[in-house]
Amino acid sequence: MALGLKPGDEVIVPAFTYIAPAEVIVLLRLTPVIVDVDYESFNVTAKNIERGLSSKTKAIIPVHLFGQSCDMEGITELAKEYSLFIIEDNAQAIAACYTFSDGTELKTGTIGHVGCTSFFPSKNLGCYGDGGAMMTNDDNLAIRLKMMANHGQAVKYQHEILGCNSRLDTLQAAILNVKLNQLDEYSSLRYRAAQKYHELLKNIDEIGLPVEMPFSSHVYNQYTIKVKSSQRDKLQAYLKEKGVPTMVYYPLPMHRQNIFKQIARQREHLTVAEELSQSVLSLPMHTELREYEQIFIAEQIITFLKK
Ligand SMILES: *Cc1c(COP(=O)(O)O)cnc(C)c1O
Repeated sequence: MALGLKPGDEVIVPAFTYIAPAEVIVLLRLTPVIVDVDYESFNVTAKNIERGLSSKTKAIIPVHLFGQSCDMEGITELAKEYSLFIIEDNAQAIAACYTFSDGTELKTGTIGHVGCTSFFPSKNLGCYGDGGAMMTNDDNLAIRLKMMANHGQAVKYQHEILGCNSRLDTLQAAILNVKLNQLDEYSSLRYRAAQKYHELLKNIDEIGLPVEMPFSSHVYNQYTIKVKSSQRDKLQAYLKEKGVPTMVYYPLPMHRQNIFKQIARQREHLTVAEELSQSVLSLPMHTELREYEQIFIAEQIITFLKK
């Protein structure tokens, strides 16, 4: 809303992600152009984005999926070349850090024109209900975003621009003020749990472990493994039977969602997103995960695969 995009403008969004970044494009009567992602990192790359470009492209929404940054150097260069806005979806990667090739380090959500995050309870920094935030280094944009989140007013009852109610609850803000101080600790607890999973599952050929890209730190919102598509649902059912909850993020890529079939465009077959949606499985991951629980989880996985 704040970037002044016009109906018909195209916005590029990855096929393998949560619905929210694609949804907002359609709500604003913009055209989503859905592009494929990288198999290793699950994330959209500059190459994927380039294949979705047209003369109507005005913005791109890289999503830092599962807790790891997209390769923002390439994406930033592409955006400069084609004068595109970058809106980072940082809902799953708050506190992750991207390292540019010259050594500069930036936190995800502060690299593009705007960064968006969510404080939904399952996120790395969660409140006790719903909440979110936007980040920008552009002072004018910050003023507009603030006004828009509060019915387009800077002064009470003086509505200068069109907005909505997207204020953060005071109660949630108070909780977040306390939890924010512990964000680094939350990240390292998740990271430690991930390393434990790596250690427990590393020698199993049937499983693809999450790959940590050299340019990003990983805050592990999810620990997502890849298994053969013919085994995935059976493994999930087996684990459920053993009391281990797992999730498939995401079972249906964006271009297969009914609501987007008519509206969204794609310029090529989205093979990787299709394959990932059939083969991913996210294991329990949170700050309170205990080592003995992880050992139990790994044992169940191994028992299933050896059957
Ligand atoms: C959770 C999430 C969102 C949106 O969160 P809401 O709090 O429901 O607005 C957006 N994008 C991604 C990738 C998410 O995981």
